[in-house]
Amino acid sequence: MLSVEEARYRILAHAVLTPSELLPLDRCAGRVPAVFGLTAVFDVPPFANSAMDGFALRAADAPGVLRLVGEVAAGAADLPRVEAGTTVRILTGAPIPPGADAVVPLELVDERGETVQVPGVERAANVRAAGYDTRAGERVELPTAPLGAASIGVAASMGYGSLEIRRRPKVAILSTGDELAAPGVPLGPGQIPDANTPLLAAAVVEAGGEVVGQARVGDDAAAIERAVEEATAGADLLVVSGGVSVGRYDHVRGVLERAGTLDFWRIAIQPGKPLAFGMVAGRPVLGLPGNPVSALVTFELFARPLIRAMLGMPGDGRQRLPVRFAGEPLRKDPARRAYLRVVVAVEDGSWVARATGGQSSSQLRPLAAANALLIVPEGEAAAVAGATYDALLIGDLP
Ligand code: AMP
Ligand code: MG
Repeated sequence: MLSVEEARYRILAHAVLTPSELLPLDRCAGRVPAVFGLTAVFDVPPFANSAMDGFALRAADAPGVLRLVGEVAAGAADLPRVEAGTTVRILTGAPIPPGADAVVPLELVDERGETVQVPGVERAANVRAAGYDTRAGERVELPTAPLGAASIGVAASMGYGSLEIRRRPKVAILSTGDELAAPGVPLGPGQIPDANTPLLAAAVVEAGGEVVGQARVGDDAAAIERAVEEATAGADLLVVSGGVSVGRYDHVRGVLERAGTLDFWRIAIQPGKPLAFGMVAGRPVLGLPGNPVSALVTFELFARPLIRAMLGMPGDGRQRLPVRFAGEPLRKDPARRAYLRVVVAVEDGSWVARATGGQSSSQLRPLAAANALLIVPEGEAAAVAGATYDALLIGDLP
């Protein structure tokens, strides 16, 4: 059996960056830049300006009584000169007029018509120097993450009106199984709703991808082969679920072998049975187990990092937290690493994980209720109360 790391490494070896396109900043929220380093076009701020409403003066003149010779508001271009013994009224964000080297806040002065009495002040007080945030030509590294509000603001203040943005990876989804019915329609005998198609579509969007096709096919090798060929033609990645085991109606392996190339692995994880990975028409195809919990957990461990790698982002973008397990022991296969469905919350000042319900791979509700997957390593036969494990956070902490 392959370790999670080995399987992920082999899959990520096939990641190809998506192309990029120039997008105006108002379309960049949540998108991933093609280049995380931005070069400042000019100093930020571009000129020395006042941090306060007050009076601009020469620090050497203070304390004293100064003659008021003008006013500078934000956006002013014509600036009066501040000679010795004079001062200029200044507003926040306005350029520091020539001659001045400090600003005294309004609250600290005594205004008497044409003169102003000012207290002592240090040079550069309340002056935001040109380039004190960023120097022209300086390279600013944005986080390797989807663009948030502050990063978009940084780009704007550095002189960018648009950014090179990676195209969202196009992901097609194919669910296989004779028992599957479209969600929401009345079920015939032996049928169950297809949970994996909408579940995987949502996971694709959460990972930063775009769903470009969703199809459901029965356990028919020719139909699966046609669907795989059609889906890979228009996608950067195809995610198939169901039919990857070794049962007589499990056709995905054979289809991948015929339509392209196949790597078929048993991975030392629980939940998660065999995983099929292959290339068809130069595009990666992931064959996930059909049980919805196994499908989502293996998507999380293998498809999500692959989508992120196509966007140029490292890792899975999840946080890990050491937590103490509480509750009845949860048995597991010692040969495999378990990802148990838990909720992590603070109890008595420390992080504690409790199972959200049954841990069978067909029980989806405990996964929906979980904010973390508790990682119980290979070699251990159970998660036991009081022991500390890593939790992979897949939802918000309370
Ligand atoms: P398979 O991997 O095809 O052997 O399926 C394993 C289990 O997952 C079976 O109980 C299937 O009915 C179930 N299953 C497979 N695909 C889906 C799906 N799209 N939605 C819900 N359950 C599924
Ligand atoms: Mg099946």
